[in-house]
Amino acid sequence: MWVGIVTIFPEVFRALTEHGVVSRAIAEGIVELQFEDPRNHTTDRHQSVDDRPYGGGPGMVMKVAPLMAAIAVLKAGAPAPPKVIYLSPQGRVLDQRKAEALARESALILIAGRYEGVDERLLDRCVDEEISIGDFVMSGGELPAMVLLDAVARHLPGTLGNSESAVQESHRAGVLDCPHYTRPEEMLGARVPAVLLSGDHASIERYRRLVALARTYERRPDLLTGRALTAAERELLGVYFADPRSGRVDGQVE
Ligand code: SAM
Repeated sequence: MWVGIVTIFPEVFRALTEHGVVSRAIAEGIVELQFEDPRNHTTDRHQSVDDRPYGGGPGMVMKVAPLMAAIAVLKAGAPAPPKVIYLSPQGRVLDQRKAEALARESALILIAGRYEGVDERLLDRCVDEEISIGDFVMSGGELPAMVLLDAVARHLPGTLGNSESAVQESHRAGVLDCPHYTRPEEMLGARVPAVLLSGDHASIERYRRLVALARTYERRPDLLTGRALTAAERELLGVYFADPRSGRVDGQVE
C-alpha cells in the first residue's frame, strides 16, 4: 500500500517509521510512505501555510494553495488514484471495520491539519473523506494519521508475523480479545487459569471464546447489541448467564 502524507511535521512520523510493526512493513515493501510538506509550496519569506480567519476569531487557518500543491505532488507520485483523507475531529470515527476497508485501498493520501483546521474550500474540493480517531480534539493531525496508519497496516497481508496474528484481536470478530498470560505460571498471588495449561486445544479455544464474550458483555455491551449473535455465541453466553463465574478469567469451562 502506498500512503502519501501532507504534514508540516514529517519528522514526527519517525515514531512509526523507525519502530515496530509499521517500520518492518516499510522495510519489507508492504507499505510505502511519501511525505510532502506544504511549506515547500509557499511563496513568502516566512513560508506561511496559515493565515487569519475571515470573520475574526481566535487561531489561524491552513491556507488552500500550499495544501493543494502538496496534494498534487503526492498524486503525481501515487501508483494508483489515491483516496484523499483529512484527519478531523468532525469525521466519521475510525473503527476496526473502517481500518480493514482502508487496507483494501492501494493508495491513500492523509492530510494532517494544524491550528484551527483547514480552509473549508479545500475540504470540499480536494478531500474524499474525513476521519476522526475519537470524540476529542488534538493539536494536530499527525498523531491521528499515525493511529490510522498503524491500524490499517495491521490488516495488510504480511505485515504481522505469525507470532503477532491479528486473528484474535479485540474488535476483529466484533468482540473484545480474551485475556493473555505468559510465564511464570504463578505471579502476584494468582495462577494462570488451569485450562490454558491443559494442552486440550478444544477446551482452550472454548474457554477463550467464552471469556472474550463475557468480557465484551460486561465492558462493551454496545458491541453485541448492534449485530446478530452466532449460534455458538448464543450457546456460550447461555453458559455465562447461567454462571457468571464461568466468564471470569479464573473460571473453568466444563
Ligand atoms: N477547530 C477544529 C475543530 O474543532 O473541528 C480542530 C482543529 S485541531 C486543533 C487541529 C488539527 O488536529 C485538525 O485540523 C485535525 O487534522 C487534527 N485533529 C484534532 N483532533 C482530531 C481527531 N479527533 N481526529 C482526527 N484528527 C484530529
